Amino acid sequence: MSTERSVVIVGGGLVGSLTACYFAKRGWRVDLLEKRPDIRLPENAHLVEHRSINLAISERGFSALRRLNPDLERQVKALVVPMHGRMIHALDGRQTSQAYDVFGRHINSVGRSTLIKILLDTVSSYSLATLHFNHEFLEADLDSGRVAFIDDKGQRQEITADLMVGADGAYSKVRQRMMARVKMNYSQKYIEHGYCEFSMPALNGAYAMDPNHLHIWPRGSFMLIALPNMDKTFTCTLFMPWSQFDQVKSEDQIAAFFQSNFPDALELMGEKSVRSEYAKNPKGSLMYIKCTPYTYKGRAVILGDAAHAMVPFYGQGMNCGFEDVEALDGIMLRILHEKTPDSDHTCALSESQMQRALDEYSCTRTSDASAIVDLALENYIEMRARVVDYAYLFRKKLEGI
Ligand code: FAD
Repeated sequence: MSTERSVVIVGGGLVGSLTACYFAKRGWRVDLLEKRPDIRLPENAHLVEHRSINLAISERGFSALRRLNPDLERQVKALVVPMHGRMIHALDGRQTSQAYDVFGRHINSVGRSTLIKILLDTVSSYSLATLHFNHEFLEADLDSGRVAFIDDKGQRQEITADLMVGADGAYSKVRQRMMARVKMNYSQKYIEHGYCEFSMPALNGAYAMDPNHLHIWPRGSFMLIALPNMDKTFTCTLFMPWSQFDQVKSEDQIAAFFQSNFPDALELMGEKSVRSEYAKNPKGSLMYIKCTPYTYKGRAVILGDAAHAMVPFYGQGMNCGFEDVEALDGIMLRILHEKTPDSDHTCALSESQMQRALDEYSCTRTSDASAIVDLALENYIEMRARVVDYAYLFRKKLEGI
């Protein structure tokens, strides 16, 4: 196997770790820099970031896992809870199921930490890949491929690589370095809404609600959603305007707020736990980013949230990041096969071929990502307002007359 080319990947999150696997599989020597400790170690389990405990993974995400290794897809599929539709909860407790697809296609709930651990284990299984935890990327000279970082002993170090990949999330430093060299169009926007997570325990050892749905309590300007976990619990997320969060300050206020707006959920979640979780759990902000191009010559590229952070309402941020990895691999492989049809080792691509591959990746992905960023925003209105069962509400109103 040829190891003539090296890549430094910044960010060992969901997208960076999958990227590392792909490059190692294609014969690249991979150094993955992750500023956090290794969350697979029991002593670091509590460090899993508090962004969302579970995620919806769709066919878009599975496809990227499968292309790397069908066993990886099988491994992840064994650890998901299928969600065949959304369950809409009216204020009076009535539930209406809305199937996602007439052919039964569905999304799946997976634990964020479960998925990231599987991906990190997969990176570790490639002899060409080295994981560097507690290593924080600082800066890079994109032309020479020199990458500077702070290592796990707090020392500044440098390495040189043929290619640099930024998978370091929405606040990407790699993107910042690229912006200093490329005429990059960039926009970022925080929406006026935030979120807070809560838990819903199992009820008598079973799921408290139908596990095969994504549950939504749409209330117009705000909503509560719940995704199932493998351990028969649900993770619930309240999305609402910051102005409303500001009005719900005390434990009594959150209990009253749930009682007025989500009484059935409150009963299942437990008032005590809602009170304490609202007080202690962080309130997250939501933003989206669009930028173009995603590349610098044939030397640097950004993927995942670094390129296109989006609001979570379409459940596609990670899925789209996984698709980036699959798309980039597909383009590199196709260009390789023009001259070398019998090899899958994209590490043999010349510098000009790499530039072509990255240019094509950037051109195709920026428009796709921009579309999904917009769809994700649009879907917030769909989820919090349009999914309401108006026919039912109308009947209720008639009955009341
Ligand atoms: P990140 O997950 O942000 O990972 C970046 C990594 O880079 C981190 O590990 C970080 O520590 C590391 N890093 C950062 N800076 C440096 C540095 N200087 N040096 C070294 N390492 C660095 N997506 C879905 O597909 N489905 C969902 O259902 C879904 N639900 C969501 C719910 C919520 C509430 C939110 C906020 C997001 C949701 N998403 C969902 C989006 C998803 O979380 C992101 O799209 C995904 O995490 C992006 O992965 P990433 O690897 O690109 O970035």
